[in-house]
Amino acid sequence: MNQVVGNLVDPVFRPPSEWDALLIAITNGCTRKCTFCAMYRSKTFSIRKDIEEIKKDIKIAGATYGNRVRKVFFEDGNAFVVKPEILIELTEYCYTIHPNLKKVSAYAHAKDIIKKSDEDLKRIADSGFTMVYVGVESGDDEVLKACKKGTTQDELTLAAQKCYKAGISWSGIFLLGLAGNDPEKSRKHAIESAKLINRMAPPTPINWYISPLTLGITPGTELWTQKSTGEFQPCSSTQILEELYMMIEYTADDLQKCIFNTNHASNYLNLKGELSRDKKQFLKVIENGIKNPNMRRPDYLRRL
Ligand code: SF4
Repeated sequence: MNQVVGNLVDPVFRPPSEWDALLIAITNGCTRKCTFCAMYRSKTFSIRKDIEEIKKDIKIAGATYGNRVRKVFFEDGNAFVVKPEILIELTEYCYTIHPNLKKVSAYAHAKDIIKKSDEDLKRIADSGFTMVYVGVESGDDEVLKACKKGTTQDELTLAAQKCYKAGISWSGIFLLGLAGNDPEKSRKHAIESAKLINRMAPPTPINWYISPLTLGITPGTELWTQKSTGEFQPCSSTQILEELYMMIEYTADDLQKCIFNTNHASNYLNLKGELSRDKKQFLKVIENGIKNPNMRRPDYLRRL
C-alpha cells in the first residue's frame, strides 16, 4: 500500500511497481492529452510552485512513517517536466528526511528528458533520482502522431540513451492495439516498436525495463469518439497477441538485461523474464495463446 500524506489530488496514478512508494505531488495532471488517455482529463496541468510546502509534505511523511520510506514516487502525470534544480532540491531533501530511501522516480515524457542537458541529467541522477517511467506506446511515428503523443522514435531513442548516460534507469511502456485493427498498420506498429526496443538498449549491460500494456478505450477520450464514429476500429484479442508476438520476434537476439513484463491487468497473457534470454519461451506461450483463446485472461478480469 502506498504511503501518503494528504498532498494528492484525485485521481492519482502510479506505476504498478510503485505500489509501496511514498507519493509526493510536485505537479498536478499531465502536460499532454494523448487521444487514448483518460488518466488526467479532469485536471488542468499545473506545477506546485511552493517548494517549501512540498518539503513540508516530505517532512510530514518522515514523522508519519519513520524510517520505513524506501521509495518515493513524484506525482503527477509528467512530474519530470519541472526544472532540474527543483528535482534535485526535492530529491536531496527526500534522502535527508528518509534515511532508508533507495529509489526516487517519476513519470516522464521523452521531450522533457531530451530538453535537459546531459549535465543536468547527471546532476539529477547524482542527487539520488533513480528511474523514469516513460509511456513510449509505439515505435511507429505514424501511430505516435495519430495518438498525439508528441514525440518520435528518434526522440524516444535519444531520451533513453541520455538517461543511461546520466545513470537514470529506464522503464518503457508500450501500448498494444494502438494502431487499430488494420493488419498492415498493426504489423508496422509491432515491428517499429521492436526496432525502437533495439535502439533503446543501453550501451553497457544494466537492467532496463519494457512493459507492454493492452489498449482499453475509455469514455471521455478522443479515441472513444473515434471509435464511435468508426474512425478507429479496435484489434481483436487474437490481433493483440499477434502484435505482441511480432514485437518480441523482431527484437534483437543479443539484448542484455532487458526485463520484460506483461503482467499488467490489461494484458491477455502474463510474460515475465529477460527479453533475449526468454524470447523462445515467450513466443511459444503467445503462440499457444493465439491458438487457444481459453488461455487468455478473460475480459472481466482485465481492467478495461
Ligand atoms: S503523456 Fe501519459 S499521462 Fe499524459 S496524457 Fe499522454 S498517456 Fe496520459
